[in-house]
Amino acid sequence: MKTLLPTSTAGSLPKPSWLATPETLWSPWKLVAGKRDALRLAVDDQLRAGIDIVGDGEQTRQHFVTTFIEHLDGVDFEKRQTVRIRDRYDASVPTVVGAVSRPKPVFVEDARFLRARTDQPIKWTLPGPMTMIDTLHDAHYQSREKLAWEFAKILNAEARELEAAGVDIIQFDEPAFNVFFDEANDWGVAALERAAEGLTCETAVHICYGYGIKANTDWKKTLGSEWRQYERTFPNLQASRIDIISLECHHSNVPMDLIELIRGKKVMVGAIDVASDVIETPEEVADTLRNALRFVDADKLYPSTNCGMAPLSRHVARGKLDALCAGARIVRAEL
Ligand SMILES: [Zn+2]
Repeated sequence: MKTLLPTSTAGSLPKPSWLATPETLWSPWKLVAGKRDALRLAVDDQLRAGIDIVGDGEQTRQHFVTTFIEHLDGVDFEKRQTVRIRDRYDASVPTVVGAVSRPKPVFVEDARFLRARTDQPIKWTLPGPMTMIDTLHDAHYQSREKLAWEFAKILNAEARELEAAGVDIIQFDEPAFNVFFDEANDWGVAALERAAEGLTCETAVHICYGYGIKANTDWKKTLGSEWRQYERTFPNLQASRIDIISLECHHSNVPMDLIELIRGKKVMVGAIDVASDVIETPEEVADTLRNALRFVDADKLYPSTNCGMAPLSRHVARGKLDALCAGARIVRAEL
């Protein structure tokens, strides 16, 4: 990346009210045909704010995990089961009923559409293998690890085609790494590397404390005054072939010095709280970035948001994009 402190978002932006119900996570589509138009608007919002690494705002996804899975064979969306997601909340999820496979590319056409909208570097987000298996009921493989490896192969095929479509950074979302530490270390990080195998574009993993929904804010209240979850997986991630680690750092109880454990990696530092409607000031963003600079070299610091902004109002999300870019400009000028 040529720009110092290149800004980006973790992924999602609010959807227009004609596409999905505003401020509602995972709202059903109102107008499926409007996804590409919404993508144009999301790009426009990012470019106007000055975001350097542009995404699609996840306008093409109803849900960050299940929309990808909807396009796979072997998963029955009619056969639903209630499971506990990330040990935190119950959700009705589809069932794996046979061998999983990807009959055709899922997001590649959308990525081409995004590529044609901007000359800036672009980032595409996909779910990570461990987060995928945690959002399903498995009645076929009977093994979380086996199913994760199957998904890793499928993700890798999709990622290679996204790279060929001109995507500069492919990001895998793995919030499950912040919950299932033993599994993450036993096979989760390895499955993630399998998903990223052979890619020459940059790769990222996003590990967060989730959207600002009640199940997550209630969970955070149980985590105590210091959130040290990252400490459990960072040594393995540091040793992995993943280039960028995307983290929640602003207004959270994550001790910033944990970033020291991934020294050498590029770090997408979350400097925007997505669980609050209060728009950060540029100075607040700058403070978080300065704090992070104690543990990550300036050429490896990528200012970002803690997580996606899908559940926020468009007005608030735009304000936060502006604040992020303004805060990054302040610190850039100091370097
Ligand atoms: Zn997130």
